[in-house]
Amino acid sequence: MEKVLDIQNLHATFSIQKKDYEVLHDISFSVNRNETVCVVGESGCGKSVTTLCIMQLLPNNGKIKSGSIYLDGTDLTKLSKKEVRKFRGKKMGMIFQEPMTALNPLLTIGYQMRENIINHRGVAKKDADKMAIEYLEKVGIANPDKRLKQYPFQLSGGLRQRVLIAMVLSAQPSLLIADEPTTALDVTIQKQVLSLLNDLKKDMNAGILFITHDLGVVAEIADRVVVLYAGRKVEEGTTKQIFKNPQHPYTIGLMNAVPNVDLDEFVIQPIPGTFPNITEHIDGCRFNPRCPRAHECAKCFVSAPQMIEVEPGHFVSCHLHG
Ligand code: SF4
Repeated sequence: MEKVLDIQNLHATFSIQKKDYEVLHDISFSVNRNETVCVVGESGCGKSVTTLCIMQLLPNNGKIKSGSIYLDGTDLTKLSKKEVRKFRGKKMGMIFQEPMTALNPLLTIGYQMRENIINHRGVAKKDADKMAIEYLEKVGIANPDKRLKQYPFQLSGGLRQRVLIAMVLSAQPSLLIADEPTTALDVTIQKQVLSLLNDLKKDMNAGILFITHDLGVVAEIADRVVVLYAGRKVEEGTTKQIFKNPQHPYTIGLMNAVPNVDLDEFVIQPIPGTFPNITEHIDGCRFNPRCPRAHECAKCFVSAPQMIEVEPGHFVSCHLHG
């Protein structure tokens, strides 16, 4: 399988009052062409920081300390800002939770699509117009001619998200990064957008990195899953491995926190305790204050666990395994 994205031993920090705090610790994973990898975890686990590192859009107080991010074989951490700008949009496209943050409210959909296609594909205006219509059709938008003349505010949230997907795809990126793209949509539209991404994955010849906190979405769209907790990767496996045989106590906690509609009553078991602040120091495993099994191993309070492979392609970082 061809890797389009390959993150190796990524460490990133945020500086707060002149002190550096680690927000990503030794993160490694990859995304293959025609594959969807979901990164899951609670707010603050490092999902969005990971995408900002890939896009090289960390805020001023953020820094990649070490590690590599290969996109189509090029290490993005070694590129200048100007070179990264060329990659962004062309080789990697991003779909945000709220499409209005990416669409200009003052310009028509047609103008924005045409400019994007001309910039990234280097075609003439007439061809760019034709391609804009093709891509709107591809994402299931009826009457594309009419839509091209409209402004973003004239479209519903679901339609805006489809326009943004069409715009991103029209640059033919190798990697599509979708950061909680369906969270702001209602459930039926959410389903349509997920099934659209599933269909597009097959024919767009790109990899999809999908960021979400919603395990229902993961089950629908992911081929593989990466679970993050407090800036660390705690488990990785195929969707089947993670859902049928979760190994890390945090992943098991996430599963138990999803309402089970098969039972007569809703049973939700929230993960106890609160998510650690990045400034908080915790000896040993960072999950130990909330882990129901921490008492089973003295090492939990002394040293951070290493990542081990528990079955082919299924990795877990927990002292109970190893
Ligand atoms: Fe829990 Fe210990 Fe495993 Fe951490 S290493 S998840 S504290 S059992």
